[in-house]
Parts: sequence; C-alpha cells; structure tokens
Amino acid sequence: MSMFRCPLCKAKLLKNERALKCEHGHSFDISAEGYVHLLPANKMNSKVPGDSKEMASSRSAFLDKGYYEPLLKELEKTVLELSEGEEPAVLDCGCGEGYYTANIAKELKNRFPKAKIAGFDISRPSVKRAAKRTKEVEFAVASVFDIPASDKSFDILLNVFSPLSIDEYKRVLKPGGYYVYVVPAARHLWQLKAAIYDTPYENKEQDTPYEGFEHKETRRVRYETLIKTKEDIFSLFQMTPYYWKTSAKGAEKLSAYESLLTEVAFDIHIYKKEK
Ligand SMILES: [Zn+2]
Repeated sequence: MSMFRCPLCKAKLLKNERALKCEHGHSFDISAEGYVHLLPANKMNSKVPGDSKEMASSRSAFLDKGYYEPLLKELEKTVLELSEGEEPAVLDCGCGEGYYTANIAKELKNRFPKAKIAGFDISRPSVKRAAKRTKEVEFAVASVFDIPASDKSFDILLNVFSPLSIDEYKRVLKPGGYYVYVVPAARHLWQLKAAIYDTPYENKEQDTPYEGFEHKETRRVRYETLIKTKEDIFSLFQMTPYYWKTSAKGAEKLSAYESLLTEVAFDIHIYKKEK
C-alpha cells in the first residue's frame, strides 16, 4: 500500500513494481528514479512549476556541503523525539531535493525500522533528485494545497520553508500528531542581506496560533557559517526570496564577494494537533 492516495478519486493506491493504482483504474507510473507524479495537469499553475532543474541542482550542491547541517541535526533529533509507537508515519511537505527528508529517514529507520516516510514537492526536477538520494522514502510530485494523502494518516508533518497550507496539514495529520514548521528567524542570513541591500530589515518573528493546534515549543538554531566560494554564495542567494526581489544592482554587489561569513538563524516551531 502506498502512503499516498489517488489524486483523482481519493481512493487508496496499491503499489506494484511499476505503478500505483486505485480501484477505479487510475494508474500512476513509478519513474526510473522511484517517484510518482500525482499532480493533475489542470492543477499546474505553469508548465514547469517550482524549482527548475538548475535550481534543484545548485540547492543540492549547497546543502551537501553541510552549510545547513546544524538545522538538519536539530530536525533529526526533533523527529526522533516526537516519534512513538512501532510505525511512525512522517510526511515531508515541500521536500524539495530531499536533503532533509533522506537524512531524517535514515536516522528514523535506524531507530524505528518499520517507520514510514513520504515526501512531496511541486517541482519535478527536485523530486527526481530526492528519489535518487534514497529508496527509504516514497516521493511524489504534488501540491501542498491538495495533498494526495488520506485524512488522519500521518503522525508527523514536516514543513521546511514551504508554503503554509494549514487546513491540508490539519486534515492529513492524526489527532495528537505533530506539525514541525521551520521558518527563518530575525537575523537569518543577515550579512548576505547587508551585502545586497543598503538598509536590510530583520525578518519578523512570530508564534502564530493555528486553530486546532497547540503551539508546544520553539527550538532555535543559531550559528555563523563561512560561505567559502562565489558559487556557493550564488547558490545560497538563489535559495532565498531576495533572489526574486533584488535589483540587478544588488546581485552585482554580491558578486564582488569571494567568501561570506554570515549568521544563520532558524526557528523550529512544534505544534500538536488537538485530539
Ligand atoms: Zn482513482
């Protein structure tokens, strides 16, 4: 049985070697890399939604150098602490190219060999990369606004810098399940911003209450990292929202840097779904 459901009729999906199939005859091929495409064509906003192939590749290269490893380690710890029972089911919403998903899956499977992990993203090139990272995770191309998963089917939901789709998150979480939400904190990439903008602003920090959830805890990840090459600086820049908002002048200012020491600041919010 797949952890996903049919995006067309919402029935369960059975898995064979080549495809996921529902009882109504809808069939979704499993790609050579091992992922499925569960995004109906009419739900695509553009022809190639999400990160492009080039962006997925530069993001992978950047993350694999370990610049965000302290966040990964804290997330691994958090997921292990929140997991209980024999078969915890974890869903990574907006998993991107799978750096966090694959590494967390490895740790989780070590401790809970029967754990089930799935991840999805709107970007097909990203999901393709994610599927190449690990066979321990079920990956799909899908939208956070129409998650192809049954109601109350997951114990833990991860959202690492993905769009907020709280009603869908609430729907697919089991009662008492956890929603782990990673957001940039006030001083995140401060020196990168200072290099681009004349008057950089701090990010707004907030513990937003969500109906039907209890905010349990905020875990803070704070450190400095030296971005060692021009290429890495550009990869990082491309991963931020500033990339889309910045004038050519700002990008040019940044290109003068050979390396960049910057603050990194994440907040991991832990919410518990009410029973
Ligand atoms: Zn179906």
